[in-house]
Amino acid sequence: MKNQLAVQPLNTLSHPGRRGTEFPASDVPHRPLEDLIPADQLRKKPLPLPEVTEPDVIRHYVNLSTQNMSVDTHFYPLGSCTMKYNPKRHERLARLPGIVDVHPYQDEHDLQGMLSMLFDMQGMLADIAGLPAVSLQPAAGAQGELTALLVASAYFRDRGERRTKVLFPSSAHGTNPASAAIAGFDCVQLDGMHDGRVDLDELASKLDDQTAVFMITNPNTLGVFESDIVQISNMLHDVGGLVYIDGANMNAILGKTRPGDFGGDMMHFNVHKTFTGPHGAGGPGAGPIAVRDFLADYLPGPIVSRTGDRFATTTPTKSIGRVRSFFGNTGILMRGYFYIRTLGAEGLKAVSENAVLNANYLKALLQDFLPVPHGKYCMHEFVASAAKVKKERGISAMEIAKRILDYGFHAPTVYFPLVVPEALMIEPTETESKATLDAFAIALRKIIDEDPAELKEAPHTLTARRPDEVQAARKPVLKWPSE
Ligand SMILES: *Cc1c(COP(=O)(O)O)cnc(C)c1O
Repeated sequence: MKNQLAVQPLNTLSHPGRRGTEFPASDVPHRPLEDLIPADQLRKKPLPLPEVTEPDVIRHYVNLSTQNMSVDTHFYPLGSCTMKYNPKRHERLARLPGIVDVHPYQDEHDLQGMLSMLFDMQGMLADIAGLPAVSLQPAAGAQGELTALLVASAYFRDRGERRTKVLFPSSAHGTNPASAAIAGFDCVQLDGMHDGRVDLDELASKLDDQTAVFMITNPNTLGVFESDIVQISNMLHDVGGLVYIDGANMNAILGKTRPGDFGGDMMHFNVHKTFTGPHGAGGPGAGPIAVRDFLADYLPGPIVSRTGDRFATTTPTKSIGRVRSFFGNTGILMRGYFYIRTLGAEGLKAVSENAVLNANYLKALLQDFLPVPHGKYCMHEFVASAAKVKKERGISAMEIAKRILDYGFHAPTVYFPLVVPEALMIEPTETESKATLDAFAIALRKIIDEDPAELKEAPHTLTARRPDEVQAARKPVLKWPSE
């Protein structure tokens, strides 16, 4: 990657009188502003907007955009996030005028095409989940978790049961406990682990008649399949609890096994991960949920139903209410819809086979210098540890992640899950070639042998180098400071 030049803020390019567009003088008679707006609410001096030409603006934003890494420009092995290539075919299809030009306030009679696709999407997701009832409403995985937990709450309330606890393993994604807390449950974490999987003895010791839901990701965040999942589900059902499958890792098991078949009662999909909605920096997403038949009445509406060849929207009888406007995030749902329709059942199965093959190939290339503590084989991702490299050469996971940017690769997820010291969580996805995986492994190998002192300053070629991530998240500066 070549050295990048910093992009100047737009207002430093400002020059009095420069304009991108000229408006003709208004010929509509109007009263002076002072008559329309109270004087104390009028600005004393004009807003200091940058005065720039159209090329200034275009160059500014195009240059800024080239400073980002994306799946369209770089290999992006960000574990847990499934940054697979977003096919341009479904971008084109999702933008067909019949899709983008309809409005949710139109009469259902005019929306039959959109409703039929949403109906099919519900059905395809139900088939993939092995769970019969689907709500497309939630706009992200995290919102799917919360929605499903509210559904569980309503179900228990209806049965006259007051269950207070939601359990999850320590390797769970942070959204699991956050969703449980927001849904009003007490969070109970399982701290132990057995071969990178849930420890059944510990689980048994924490189950009781207060247990509402066990949230489990399968395959889990270590890229290990929870092979005791049927037994785990039976244990939950024996105490009257429900099993929630965090479906963020469906990329590994599409068409191979189904949450409903291995005991899950509810799950969410991350359409933006598994079914290639372009995503990053927190959006845009779609997090539909699928649940067992006895939970269907509590789902948020609208659900698309079909009578003969007519489609209509309905709200389940005991619905928890809406969680998002209209039909959900249809822009992302449509991309997922076209992805699934394009690949078909056999194609989706091949997606998972290749995702798992790619991850195991890359793991084999790395494991003698970046060992993977959990799992002889992995599913679609694996978590390597830089602990040995740190001890022997003083090179941490963070330094490896920063330096790999100079080689033209996006960094893996680092320091998650916490159960692996100096964690590098790597998910290559099925859309990468052997050549790319080889090049990535060679780059990592080189970094391990580099001068540790120089690595402290990496990346060397990018304009943004070591931003304070905590400050950026807690106190984001979202506007140019005014004088
Ligand atoms: C991404 C992810 C989530 C949250 O999904 P969002 O769509 O980002 O809200 C939950 N669990 C796991 C394991 C994930 O990887």
